[in-house]
Amino acid sequence: MKRDRLKELASDERFISGIYNYCDRWCERCPQTSRCLNFALSEEEFADPGTRDIKNEAFWRKLSEVLSDTLQLLKEAAKEHGIDLEALEIDQSQEEEKQ
Ligand code: SF4
Repeated sequence: MKRDRLKELASDERFISGIYNYCDRWCERCPQTSRCLNFALSEEEFADPGTRDIKNEAFWRKLSEVLSDTLQLLKEAAKEHGIDLEALEIDQSQEEEKQ
């Protein structure tokens, strides 16, 4: 997925922010599919049946692509907010060493 498309969908006001954090992921039975960003993304990104089959290489390629895009978006958001992710990782590992 293009990151611009993801940003476009994420800013769409028809979606309820974070609704997918409080569900059982049983989308087939969910009355909120039209208000769920996760559902919309899944429909777009995993439309090809091969990308929904865990035994298919297309699934793993698509998942890798989605995770890579997500990481890139996180880095961009952190930079926009003045957060140095590298420094956070170092601080956390130092804290773990102390413990
Ligand atoms: S559509 Fe699926 S992911 Fe979204 S809230 Fe419903 S069950 Fe959860």
